Amino acid sequence: MWKLIEAAWIVTGSADGDEVRATPKGAVAIDAEGRILATGYREDVVAAARSPDAPEPAERVVLDRHILMPGLVNAHTHAAMTLLRGHGDDRALQDWLQNYIWPAEAALADPEFVYTGTVLAAAEMLLSGTTTCADMYFFPEVAGRAFVRMGLRAQLAMPVLDFPTRYAADADGYLRANLAARDALTDEPLLSWALGPHAPYTVSDPTYRRVLAFATELDIPIHTHLQETTDEVASSLREHGVTPAARLAKLGVASAGLVAAHGVHLDPTDRTLLGKAGASIIHCPSSNLKLASGFADVAALVHAKVNVALGTDGAASNNRLDLFEEMRLAALLAKAVSRDAASVPATQAFLLATRNGARALRLDDRIGTLEAGKRADLVAVRIDTPAATPMFDPVSHLVYVAGRGDVTHVWVDGRARVTEGRLAEGPRVALAECAGSIATFAGRVRALRQ
Ligand SMILES: [Zn+2]
Repeated sequence: MWKLIEAAWIVTGSADGDEVRATPKGAVAIDAEGRILATGYREDVVAAARSPDAPEPAERVVLDRHILMPGLVNAHTHAAMTLLRGHGDDRALQDWLQNYIWPAEAALADPEFVYTGTVLAAAEMLLSGTTTCADMYFFPEVAGRAFVRMGLRAQLAMPVLDFPTRYAADADGYLRANLAARDALTDEPLLSWALGPHAPYTVSDPTYRRVLAFATELDIPIHTHLQETTDEVASSLREHGVTPAARLAKLGVASAGLVAAHGVHLDPTDRTLLGKAGASIIHCPSSNLKLASGFADVAALVHAKVNVALGTDGAASNNRLDLFEEMRLAALLAKAVSRDAASVPATQAFLLATRNGARALRLDDRIGTLEAGKRADLVAVRIDTPAATPMFDPVSHLVYVAGRGDVTHVWVDGRARVTEGRLAEGPRVALAECAGSIATFAGRVRALRQ
């Protein structure tokens, strides 16, 4: 049994090389287990997928006014923070964190908050073409169950801090709770795991060392915030005598398994060090703009051979979970920052949002491109609108023209999650069940604001 999705165009990167291929009159064939059987020109795909037992597809979806592409990878977010969307707007990072976000989380961030906020975030991400996210938040077991229920692929960066929250009291407590969470959900095919020490300014050297020991033993990435503001770099130089990136390198944390969010204020030595280590920087342009953190030099990072991917950060600092917006901003900002209009062209921005995200999470053997053998995480984008007319280059349109409102269909692991712009039944019911809880938490946030 196999199904066929036909589209006016198929656009995809490949596992190796930096080309992005656009194939007209294309198709993707998917087997019953949600694996891509073949992709390319429709006739070739049908010929490759048919067998004597199954000469015709069991299901055929025709998207003749659409581009079909790999699902977007949101490589840094805090999903449950959707419930704090719009709380603490227009403030600098430390003011925002210390006076708005941390007090709200201390009052509200229990398992029900995490489940509810994660379901809401997953709905928003699916509807905007994101099929995988890397989520760093408390109660990852609860978040994991929400992602499974919604059918969104997720890597849970399990939080580690040196101060108490509702989730745990100290580093030991976080690690214990995290290992139990991973054990409880280890068989879920949509979930993968990372350890998420929050940031160099909230995590001590001994704790980073312990995180590294566990991450090495479990063979999972370490996901942390890094050099988001000038203050962070200045205080690290004062307290440790080195930049946060150099400190992580000294601790052995800067490696191919490092997923570092932001990297706004990296000097050339930091960039070289991260590039040589094979680390990833998750560029979060909207969040950096909104918190006035600064402008990451993406062109310089790419030049230093750092794997750059994209993230929205949480909905309290964005306030959208919209990878199409991050992709367009990444391309535009890179040009302004480097004063070079050739920096981060459309093909590269497209790779940042798809394949490079998969690489950062070490899921590139499964997702990030449309290639035979990979999981079928697909997104269809309509191109029959006035705003998308005319079209000379589909890759350019995906980056510079398309928005999340143009997403019509989404498949994760071969299963339809969005059809004709609406959530499929499973995620729709899961979201509807949370309606009461969403309203309750909105009321509690409103009370905190008075
Ligand atoms: Zn973040």
